[in-house]
Amino acid sequence: MILRIDDLVKHYGPVRAVDGLSLEIGEGEVLGLVGESGSGKSTVGKCVLRLTEPTAGRIELAGRDITHLSRRAMRPLRRDVHMVFQDPYSSLNPRFTVERIVGEPLLRHKVADRREVSRRVAAMLERVGLRAEMRARHPHELSGGQRQRVGLARALILEPRLVVADEPVSALDVSVQASVLNLITDLQRDMGFSCLFITHDLSVVEFLADRVAVMYLGKIVESGPTAEIFAGPRHPYTQALLSAAPVPDPVRQRERRRIVLGGDVPSPLDPPSGCRFHTRCPLAFDRCRAEEPALLGEGHPAACHLVTADSVPDAAAPPKR
Ligand code: SF4
Ligand code: MG
Repeated sequence: MILRIDDLVKHYGPVRAVDGLSLEIGEGEVLGLVGESGSGKSTVGKCVLRLTEPTAGRIELAGRDITHLSRRAMRPLRRDVHMVFQDPYSSLNPRFTVERIVGEPLLRHKVADRREVSRRVAAMLERVGLRAEMRARHPHELSGGQRQRVGLARALILEPRLVVADEPVSALDVSVQASVLNLITDLQRDMGFSCLFITHDLSVVEFLADRVAVMYLGKIVESGPTAEIFAGPRHPYTQALLSAAPVPDPVRQRERRRIVLGGDVPSPLDPPSGCRFHTRCPLAFDRCRAEEPALLGEGHPAACHLVTADSVPDAAAPPKR
């Protein structure tokens, strides 16, 4: 197990960004963490990288408890875990050359001298589909897609065991999103790193993730193997997200019944009582407002009062009232 998160809580003052979340990622496994903006998914990534201090719970990286490690004690572990950010524009220092940006982790961890850095940066750039000449460029001389490739090269140059990718393609033009996603998939297969892939777009993880965890207002509402989630989503929220995702097959698209959710995601300042999804769920009933459903079910758990060992609700066919 490369990452194990137990009952993670992160509150920013009164904002309950993450409110009791557990997940695991195995060696070489890709977990897609999916949720709308405000669901707390980025906060989970930041806690794993120790960019923010968890309020409660436990985070283990490669068997080591890192929940409350000091910056100094965390430093050697930073070789093992790297982050790819959403916005390649702001995450790369504009004053530095590509060589300095990509090579910096090698120098910081003292694994290469200057000449060696230049050679290794060229090799890494090639792996992400960029020419060695790019080393002398600055971020503003690159396209968005090239910048995100530079971000990937920087994250991967130390061959980390875990990569946390937070919306790595959502700031890019649609036309380059697919190529960057394919690149991440290829690199993951070649290099074998584990990945926590954070996205608001369920369809993005279909071809990339081994398992998917769906987040709503600071909690996981469903998780399981990607193929199972896509073939048979159990939680009404997952069903709604999937019904809104485009499918390549127009026949399937027509057959699929769109589930339209009312309202916006409620504020994490004051999450709804009972099931946090009850204010938007087409199937909500009295019990949902009073009692919080537990995340139950071996291998493919869901947190909904209507999910049982032998039945799954259908949010596209709510009962007439
Ligand atoms: Fe909907 Fe109730 Fe299930 Fe929550 S517990 S998802 S409100 S049916
Ligand atoms: Mg975010």
